[in-house]
Amino acid sequence: MAGNWKMYKTPADTVAFFEKFRPLTANSEHCEIVICPPFTSLSAAADAVKGSAIRVGAQNIAWAKEGAFTGEISGPMIAATGATHAIVGHSERRQYFGESDETVLKRTLAALEFGLWPIVCVGERLEEREGGNTEAVLVRQFQNGIAGLSAAQFAKIAIAYEPVWAIGTGKTATPEIAADAHRTIRAQAREKFGKEAADAVRILYGGSVKPDNTRSLMAQPEIDGVLVGGASLDPVSFASIVNF
Ligand code: PEP
Repeated sequence: MAGNWKMYKTPADTVAFFEKFRPLTANSEHCEIVICPPFTSLSAAADAVKGSAIRVGAQNIAWAKEGAFTGEISGPMIAATGATHAIVGHSERRQYFGESDETVLKRTLAALEFGLWPIVCVGERLEEREGGNTEAVLVRQFQNGIAGLSAAQFAKIAIAYEPVWAIGTGKTATPEIAADAHRTIRAQAREKFGKEAADAVRILYGGSVKPDNTRSLMAQPEIDGVLVGGASLDPVSFASIVNF
């Protein structure tokens, strides 16, 4: 169960969040919990989760270790904060910051190289769904991105299916639509990496997940978890998603 805070919360806000969130999830042993704050709050988050099972992730990662890449943050820098995960290829990065399937693969490889778990995002835009191209888009994103990993690398990623039309819009994919897309992604994984690896990879659904729709999404065997934006900002709301 992963939370993406996007561009919200200072370090002080982060500490206040975990003061409320930790007691609410102290017994939530049924799942892994990962919170992804902005870079500037990673250290505060990593400190605030010490002694708990909660993990911290970045929302992006540079493809290089270091160098002349103004504005980028590298894997070793992220790992040094205590973070263990990194979201890669979020649709907001693709939409506003020129992220492509190629750069998503490079960033995924960097996360793996520096010992971080990538949460690799894929998903179609509204016009792609309406044009009947959802499957083709998911296959293209898989083929151009995730398929470039070795089997050993593939075992160390999570995938998030996030239909762009459902992100921050209040329009959740129905559990059936989400499960269908997950099946497409898992079929790609099976073809490339074999049945065992495809069964084992965790595929999260993301897009307007809220406390009141989590249970029906998670009831789909294809949906292994959720990636939550807006509703992860409030500790009570995210805890009730975690404890669905
Ligand atoms: C996200 O940011 O990954 C996301 C799914 O956002 P929201 O839950 O707000 O739709």
